[in-house]
Amino acid sequence: MEKPAGSGPSLSAAAMGEAWARIRGRLREEVGEVEYRTWLRQMTLAAIEGDEAVVVLPTRFLRDWVRSHYGDRLSALWQQESPAVRRVDVRLGPQRPVEDAEDAAPAGRDGPPRRHGLAEPLSAGKAAARSGDARGDWSAPLDPRFTFDTFVVGKPNEFAHACARRVAEKPALPGFNPLFLYGGVGLGKTHLMHAVAWAIRDGEPARNVAYMSAEKFMYRFIAALRSQSTMEFKESLRSVDVLMVDDLQFLIGKDNTQEEFFHTFNALVDAGKQIVVSADKSPSDLNGLEDRLRTRLGCGIVADIHATTFELRLSILGAKAMAAGVEVPKNVQEFLAHKITSNIRELDGALNRLIAHANLFGRAITLENAQEVLQDILRAHDRRVTIEEIQRKVAEHYNIRLTDMSSARRARAVARPRQVAMYLAKQLTSRSLPEIGRRFGNRDHTTVMHAVSRISELMQADSAFAEDVELLRRMLET
Ligand code: ADP
Ligand code: MG
Repeated sequence: MEKPAGSGPSLSAAAMGEAWARIRGRLREEVGEVEYRTWLRQMTLAAIEGDEAVVVLPTRFLRDWVRSHYGDRLSALWQQESPAVRRVDVRLGPQRPVEDAEDAAPAGRDGPPRRHGLAEPLSAGKAAARSGDARGDWSAPLDPRFTFDTFVVGKPNEFAHACARRVAEKPALPGFNPLFLYGGVGLGKTHLMHAVAWAIRDGEPARNVAYMSAEKFMYRFIAALRSQSTMEFKESLRSVDVLMVDDLQFLIGKDNTQEEFFHTFNALVDAGKQIVVSADKSPSDLNGLEDRLRTRLGCGIVADIHATTFELRLSILGAKAMAAGVEVPKNVQEFLAHKITSNIRELDGALNRLIAHANLFGRAITLENAQEVLQDILRAHDRRVTIEEIQRKVAEHYNIRLTDMSSARRARAVARPRQVAMYLAKQLTSRSLPEIGRRFGNRDHTTVMHAVSRISELMQADSAFAEDVELLRRMLET
């Protein structure tokens, strides 16, 4: 069932204080005394704004740290306490008691966007509260950090970036409408969308740019249905010049909302307005999306953001360290880029934690303390790769049979891939040479040793080959 949240009764100040005390207690139990004292003790509940609990911390470092490490947990705990609170916003602010937090009111609907680093759009409760507005305020707050200036371009995202730039320069250019961005979690979709919105707003403030998550679109639609103001909803939405809807996969299975989105989409495109949409998959892979919507989504330009490469991760770390004005030694950057391969959000989180630690304890960042501070993150990434997986991947890659990994065949076409697999087994697992040999058709450990040194030599001599092996390694590591 589609059901807007945030419609519950609001908490009294006293109840709020009690709920907050319980949440703190829970967190303290969960994370332990030391961690709690280090990071969480200074949290203050500043206000409940609509459906959002505003938690403040006195320094940027603490704020970033708490936001990235405990943000989700805080939201979950709040929701358990009160369904009226849907999100937690962690901000920088003086510590102040709950009672005098009244001045932290949301920005007026015609005022400038709230520039306090909030990545998510206006939340459901406020949206519902405003659903009676004839014009409605579709412009959600944009994260001030998500601009083109801070977006690091590399192979995996250069096409998506170029498309986004083009749309920002010339919205509704034929061929670029809609712009459909897709890619895995934490790879920069939201960042790019905000960048486009900032660029258009900066260039042409009069243009009505509306950025929202698909979830928010749904909540507003449902709120409109409830208050029987769907006409106003439609009208206000159709008055935007650029409509950006993030995480469209959220609409899967929400048929009514999808239908409404489809009509809005058509009306806007027909009126020469720009649409930008993101999702975790390409239009053709978004199962559960109505066919006609899928078709329309795919008829502009579809740009894929690929998984990161080592090079991109390294440039991002370099850029972020520089922006933070913190010295992060090259070897630490390489270490992180090598270890944290899942996505940029995690990489970002790891770097922020390092910086926070360095600042808090006044220590320089070194490889050693990086390993210590990031222990938990690193462990999670230290995925155990098995020899079977390596054999399978390598066989697949070189198009040989899996059985040839242990066969006696010595033809180069089989022997070389087998050596690559042995090399990777040595690099990626903690198995000993004799163990590895045994798994490759009972070969002797000297054969494995020979394979390892042969492959290293070849990698030095032949960069294309080296890249190939690196690619395999990365595929196995992620
Ligand atoms: P997604 O929406 O794809 O899940 P986000 O746009 O939220 O991912 O990105 C996650 C984090 O990684 C954000 O902090 C964002 O600023 C950062 N990020 C992603 N891509 C880049 C990039 N190319 N350059 C700099 N930062 C990036
Ligand atoms: Mg996103």
